[in-house]
Amino acid sequence: LVSRKKKSENTIVDIKGEKVGNGQPHLVFGPCAVESYEQVATVAKAVKDKGLKLLRGGAFKPRTSPYDFQGLGLEGLKILKKVADEFDLAVISEIVSPSDIETAVDYLDVIQIGARNMQNFELLKAAGQVNKPVLLKRGMSATIEEFINAAEYIMAQGNGQIILCERGIRTYEKATRNTLDITAVPILKQETHLPVFVDVTHSTGRKDLLLPAAKAALAIGADGVMAEVHPDPAVALSDSAQQMDLNQFDQFMSELSKSALVR
Ligand code: PEP
Ligand code: MN
Repeated sequence: LVSRKKKSENTIVDIKGEKVGNGQPHLVFGPCAVESYEQVATVAKAVKDKGLKLLRGGAFKPRTSPYDFQGLGLEGLKILKKVADEFDLAVISEIVSPSDIETAVDYLDVIQIGARNMQNFELLKAAGQVNKPVLLKRGMSATIEEFINAAEYIMAQGNGQIILCERGIRTYEKATRNTLDITAVPILKQETHLPVFVDVTHSTGRKDLLLPAAKAALAIGADGVMAEVHPDPAVALSDSAQQMDLNQFDQFMSELSKSALVR
């Protein structure tokens, strides 16, 4: 169903009026994790001031260590909803459990399925049964074929509003957190009719590479770019080293605008 052979026109995913996949790049920013109303609202204001519409923030955090901050859960979704309503933004957040999918529909504009859950088939099926866009991230060890099949699981249940997101894969290279598989973008665009985003934060894990990676993503045909922004990364409860602060966010946006890759 996701194959370009089945449908030649691009799928356009409508997120609160934002038409993702329409040829204009869409940029998604926000903190790694929702920590408080003030924290999310601060980033939301910065996003809004730049004329952007899409805000991300994790409420359920799939952390490598069980002793690390696991996210605010439902409380986090409530904060995101409040901020989305106040700032007229669309919010994207990860759901990790099939039983939370129904609840998420009431709070979120896009359900994110994270790299670690790309082959959580019950979660994929549950996300396929609701009427809500899904941002599906590539598993860190998933082949492109496995990634496409994961999207197929969602669409096979009836939900065709899917955005694919390349977020880097695990290789022997240690210079970056993951290895950004940039050619996955045109391959996914050729093989499927779905919009494709690139997460420059989790793929590189390096602030100095966010801008060049974003330029590369847009130049190679990505429909959008995602990056993490936190009001005070030094005290962030997750991914402290790689989130942009608000000044870096300003700089990132002005440099990206100069590149003529965005409007
Ligand atoms: C995230 O986007 O918050 C995240 C945890 O990313 P990934 O699933 O790609 O690691
Ligand atoms: Mn993160």
